[in-house]
Amino acid sequence: MKYAEVIISITHKNVDRIFNYIIPDTLKGQLCVGMRVIVPFGKGNKKYEGYVIGFSEYTDVPSDKLKCVISIMDKYPVFSENAIELAKFMKEKYYSTLSECLRCIMPSIVKDKTRGYVYLNRKKEDFQILFDKCVSKNNLQSRVLNFLCEFDGTAVDEIKMLLEINLSPISALEKKGLINVLDREIKRDVLDFSFVKKTNPFVPTDEQKNAINFVLNKFYSNDIKPVLIHGVTGSGKTEIYMRIIEAVLKAGKQAIVLVPEISLTPQTVNRFMSRFGRLVSVTHSRLSAGERFDQWKKAREGEISIMIGPRSAIFTPFANLGAVIIDEEHESTYKSETTPKYDVREIAIEIGRICGSITVFGSATPDISTYYKANIGEFDLVTISSRVNKSFPEINVIDMRKELENGNKSVFSSSLLNAIEDNLLNGRQTILFLNRRGYSTFVSCRKCGYVMECESCNVNYTYHLSGNKLICHYCGKTLANPKNCPRCGSQYIKYFGTGTQKIEEETKKIFPEARILRMDLDTTSGKNAHENILKKFARGDADILIGTQMIAKGLDFPNVSVVGVVAADMSLNSGDFKCAENTFQMLTQVSGRAGRASVKGSVFIQTYNPEHYSIEFAKNNDYISFYNHEITVRKQMMYPPFSHIFFIMFVSFDEKKVIKALFALLDIMVKFNKNNQFEHIGPSPATVSKIKNQYRWKIIVKGVRERNLKNYVLYCLDRLRECYDVSGININITLNPVYIM
Ligand code: ADP
Ligand code: ZN
Ligand code: ZN
Repeated sequence: MKYAEVIISITHKNVDRIFNYIIPDTLKGQLCVGMRVIVPFGKGNKKYEGYVIGFSEYTDVPSDKLKCVISIMDKYPVFSENAIELAKFMKEKYYSTLSECLRCIMPSIVKDKTRGYVYLNRKKEDFQILFDKCVSKNNLQSRVLNFLCEFDGTAVDEIKMLLEINLSPISALEKKGLINVLDREIKRDVLDFSFVKKTNPFVPTDEQKNAINFVLNKFYSNDIKPVLIHGVTGSGKTEIYMRIIEAVLKAGKQAIVLVPEISLTPQTVNRFMSRFGRLVSVTHSRLSAGERFDQWKKAREGEISIMIGPRSAIFTPFANLGAVIIDEEHESTYKSETTPKYDVREIAIEIGRICGSITVFGSATPDISTYYKANIGEFDLVTISSRVNKSFPEINVIDMRKELENGNKSVFSSSLLNAIEDNLLNGRQTILFLNRRGYSTFVSCRKCGYVMECESCNVNYTYHLSGNKLICHYCGKTLANPKNCPRCGSQYIKYFGTGTQKIEEETKKIFPEARILRMDLDTTSGKNAHENILKKFARGDADILIGTQMIAKGLDFPNVSVVGVVAADMSLNSGDFKCAENTFQMLTQVSGRAGRASVKGSVFIQTYNPEHYSIEFAKNNDYISFYNHEITVRKQMMYPPFSHIFFIMFVSFDEKKVIKALFALLDIMVKFNKNNQFEHIGPSPATVSKIKNQYRWKIIVKGVRERNLKNYVLYCLDRLRECYDVSGININITLNPVYIM
């Protein structure tokens, strides 16, 4: 092969193609597909990192323009052929450059740590003869050889230390060809196995058995259609995953288990470690880049067979991947918010197509779009409807309007207060939960529960303190903040908001003797802060844990018998078309934290909207009815999964410029909108309309077909760049964002 096909590591559309480079004779035979190389690029022949994605015999580049590969960066390929195919898929799907996609797949650093180890160069038996020939007895070299006859393969540094010598006798022996000094890699362990005891599998329940068999039948018959395991909280999904993995390993293959970063607790990982021992490793953002690379390398070289981690773990380079399991598949963190803005669930399915692995999604509250896919047959579906311990917590919905009527203006209802008090007396623990994710300030009536809502978009208005006005963050419609409730006329209509800190203060006031822990972004910034708070709570060093969504997931505290959702309305009125779905998921997950052991749990959901369907169905733990209701609303409003939503945000210090440019874009979009295939909403300010003095405005575009919509938006943006000065404007685009930000 004469030419290497190289992708240059520059993120620019004009450079987003293959460049051919001559392979110099010195590198022939060494250079493989997937390796990183240094190449000269551009007029100044500046050196750049490049990725070899193929070879060719011919090139149409004139010979005087052709340049040579300068050097190879690694000893082995960083990308497998499969990884390169995946990068190509990502480039198309997530409208980014191939170089960005390759860098996303690659570990953030590729650096081998090596140390010299000394080995005898002959068989021990032959040695004696040579020994006498080459070195004189009691000479330092002979001491080294004698030592190696007993401890072959010791590190250079260790020999120097133990024999109290310097490097010269070792070098002399190496020159004589009697020993070899070889580099052996160091791959750090990131898990501590010293306290892990091997556990035996549970005897599966009938429903577990059914799920395991279903997935394994698919595995054995190479059926790669993804399967959704819809199993209520506490239905023993982890045991199902582990049984599947067992079979995958038996077949000589490997498995990736994705869990949301916040549920990647020692508790979760321990379950896998105690079943599979040293075949397990983890990767996550709290590890150093070097540690993460070491795990990547262990996987690549077959030292481990199971990788557990958040979405980036999907790029673990196993040689023969058998299964990808995505736990809590509805979690928003499975979508990347940086370019390439990939959805790891789509990546897993594509990997299944490329390397034949099975893809298993699991959740108690599947994403509405995922369940829809199961309904129309794009996914297989297995349902587990009962908990292993058969007991569901009692769920109480508290009508906060009545509390106000009874003169209670505190954030706690009297029944939640009583339950906390009882719990304190009995030495049991309480979790108080405040969902602030995707939260924005809405205006509601404390007397009747009415929430100010934009009728054309079916989402809540967001309150803006500056100007005391309400804005719909979909269509941009603006209203003055009302003085009286449009429904009941009361004056108790105002914006809604409270923080964990305020809840903590109030709790301290009411229960001065209680030991309270708070877990939110402020208290978890340190390296192990998150873990330490959970450990403290698990040890029983606190009575009450107050927190945000961080505490909603995957935790298993047997002594927690009361869970309070302080303000369900916060997520209910977040101003996003997904707010009912998010609320239902949140309530179900949080409820799942109560009464996991023998003590019966009770959950208190405080709300001004007790009739809302997401609350009613969560109370009855009825996902299917929730789904049926929600999917009807989505269809009526043409929201996903019946459409795709493209979110285009312009950011600049100059607000007028941003708005003008978006209107110019809108003009272009209207012009090219053949047959009115696409619907435009906005321009309107983003939910967070100003960050660090930069103004953020957006347009939302809806379309039924993903590919058409994407082509249309990218085309219109190109036209805008051609005919309009967008300098100083940062253009940010996302397809189907987690939140309409
Ligand atoms: P999920 O992930 O579905 O919420 P888990 O996997 O956390 O549920 O399981 C809930 C609890 O049930 C765990 O404490 C687990 O150890 C236990 N468990 C799971 N399967 C069995 C079984 N077959 N027999 C007994 N206990 C089980
Ligand atoms: Zn009212
Ligand atoms: Zn609107």
